[in-house]
Amino acid sequence: MAKADYYDILNVPKGASDDDIKKAYRKLAVKYHPDKNPGDKTAVEKFREATEAYEVLKDPQKRAQYDKFGHAAFEGTQGGGAGYGGFSGGFDLSDALRAFMNDFGGDSIFGDLFGFGSRTRRGGGHGGTRGNDLQVKLGLTLEEISTGVKKTIKVRRLDKCQGCGGSGSKSGKRTTCAKCGGNGRVRHVSNSFFGQMVQETDCPVCRGDGQTVSDPCAACGGSGLRQSESTVSVDIPAGVEEGNYIRVPGRGDAGRGGGESGDLIVVLHEKPHETFTRHGIDLSCKLDITFSDAALGCSKTINTLEDKVSLKIPGGTHSEKVFKLKSKGLTEYRGKNRGDLLVKVHINTPEKLGREEKELFEKLAKLGL
Ligand SMILES: [Zn+2]
Ligand SMILES: [Zn+2]
Repeated sequence: MAKADYYDILNVPKGASDDDIKKAYRKLAVKYHPDKNPGDKTAVEKFREATEAYEVLKDPQKRAQYDKFGHAAFEGTQGGGAGYGGFSGGFDLSDALRAFMNDFGGDSIFGDLFGFGSRTRRGGGHGGTRGNDLQVKLGLTLEEISTGVKKTIKVRRLDKCQGCGGSGSKSGKRTTCAKCGGNGRVRHVSNSFFGQMVQETDCPVCRGDGQTVSDPCAACGGSGLRQSESTVSVDIPAGVEEGNYIRVPGRGDAGRGGGESGDLIVVLHEKPHETFTRHGIDLSCKLDITFSDAALGCSKTINTLEDKVSLKIPGGTHSEKVFKLKSKGLTEYRGKNRGDLLVKVHINTPEKLGREEKELFEKLAKLGL
């Protein structure tokens, strides 16, 4: 499928000003931000797409390349190291969330809108490289989703080395990198099919830290980081859905050279339930009854998610009839409403008949039943 045009995605004309592009993006980002659209995959994709478009169009150099060559401007360098657009590995949701936070995280308008699960940009300006965001999947049962639950997750992450306190140096002394002058980034000019391109990448000597160590710590080899296992506890609110996520600030990989830690993104997965099927906040299940129960009526005990209730089936009930148990479904996410439990009756036809049963059915048959 052809990739949509960045200008079309942001709904701005080709000659739009930087300010118009920013405004258009902001409007879309606020509307489709995943925190505001839990479980809505279309919204998440729209948010990701808009952010990718904005990341290119806000940058005069990238925009010029895009205007000239379209998406090919960025695809051409894929696989050959760092892509010019910086999306060499594809621009995914966590890239989009990070880009959005970097651009608008400190904005007070967004601070109010995204109080839950979002973060504002911390620190900055003190050098170092921010740690990676980590993503973990967390399985939840319908019972847990129904009430909300506190979960403890084990996470393998890069943590500050205990031996050197994260400095990477035995003596704790760090010096400004001679290659990049402490900037952490270096520029390369290369000639390619698309003309001259300027790439900026992490400095190969200090790996973006802007500082180097002359006496590397033996425990971490000078990186200042070590692989560790830690536990993180997360409060899951009631009513969440498959694909919702919770961002735990600062619990991703530790940053290098004094940089801030990344975030932990806990992506929620709903485990299938052996009895219930979910439809938003409603649940459904099947109830097997006999011919006689259906004809004469009966009372059945139904196990709901949290208790047992009695369901009266009136005489003359047809197969596939649905009975609604009010408010026995799931609680609405961040709301008070409760869904219903829909019980679908299924009449079981006996497969093996004894002599007496056969006689009785024959009698019924003679009566036209
Ligand atoms: Zn450097
Ligand atoms: Zn160390």
